[in-house]
Amino acid sequence: MKVIEKNNMKDPAHFVARIHVEEDCLDDPVTRDILARTGDIPVDIIKSDSAGLPDFGLYPKSLSRGKRHLLLSRNRGRFLKPCPGTKEYCCCDYQVLNIGMNCPMDCVYCILQAYLNNPWLSFFVNYDDLVNELAEAVALQPDRFWRIGTGEFTDSLALDRLTDLSRVLVEFMHDKKNGLLELKTKTAVVDNLKGLEHGGRTIVAWSLNSPAIVAKEELRTATLEERLAAAAQCAAWGYKLAFHFDPIIYHPDWEKGYTETIKQLFSAVPGDSIAWISMGCLRYLPSLKEIAVQRFPNSKFFYEEFIQGLDGKSRYFRTLRVEMYKHLYQELNKRAAADTCIYLCMESDDIWQEVFGFTPGERGGLASMLDTAVGEKAKG
Ligand code: SF4
Repeated sequence: MKVIEKNNMKDPAHFVARIHVEEDCLDDPVTRDILARTGDIPVDIIKSDSAGLPDFGLYPKSLSRGKRHLLLSRNRGRFLKPCPGTKEYCCCDYQVLNIGMNCPMDCVYCILQAYLNNPWLSFFVNYDDLVNELAEAVALQPDRFWRIGTGEFTDSLALDRLTDLSRVLVEFMHDKKNGLLELKTKTAVVDNLKGLEHGGRTIVAWSLNSPAIVAKEELRTATLEERLAAAAQCAAWGYKLAFHFDPIIYHPDWEKGYTETIKQLFSAVPGDSIAWISMGCLRYLPSLKEIAVQRFPNSKFFYEEFIQGLDGKSRYFRTLRVEMYKHLYQELNKRAAADTCIYLCMESDDIWQEVFGFTPGERGGLASMLDTAVGEKAKG
């Protein structure tokens, strides 16, 4: 059943069944363009404070229904914010570009389930404000290298067929020598990226997992084969790529599963097109476990043994994390290009030392390692 659903859902925007538009952005050209692309999806006009949205019932049960409803509105706050990393772990100094909230796909481990309190999808249509804010930020600090991503509160490309935002962002970034945009996705929706003048300033990134986790725990996402075919297509269009093994989940035959995915990755995609690859073991706040086990009672991975980390999140025991990282690193390292940066997401110096034999500080810090990986590639 899940496989059939996946095959029908190559483009998760098809899951949207109703659109709600706040009245103050109805005449916005971006709104009009989006509505023109949505075909016969019913549209409601609602008040500008989102009053008038249907009652979806109690959260989080309401999420399954809410994910079929897309709210178009203006962002009245800031678009650009530092990634909420924690000071206890090595973090990569990323800037999050907030383009909207929630996602039509449905991963059992998705942190958004605990982070949000509304079940619907929301998307901001004031692209002019977004671009102005970006332009101002990048120009105000010309000596800083900006790594900007849209995949923190949503999936970067899940609604892109409707919104066309990737074209705006890629073309904006193409001549920004002190910046790089990362579009992170679990879809295969890359048609909008074709033929754009990207100037090497956009990295297209995919989250990858073992075949068993993709099949069982990532609903309505593209299959591994579809993700990797889309990645190969982007590489052929000259984009740099990135991959994120996050969350790495302990499950039966995990070694075989992750090895299989890594083999598939390097047989599908040219290694020298990959700027970076991250690894991060499953970590979660207690509230996420409560929500996920309620919504997905057949998923069992939350019932392994965990300890509480310095950031209050549950993690696997250190020995298991190191074992998993070492296994993936060994498989990645024997296939990856020399200048691809392989790194850990939100781990301590001790774990870095055990897995890689060095700490980020010895190489100028993680942010600098990532910037260097891209800088060297950009010159090449
Ligand atoms: S694709 Fe990403 S944002 Fe969407 S449900 Fe999965 S983890 Fe959450």
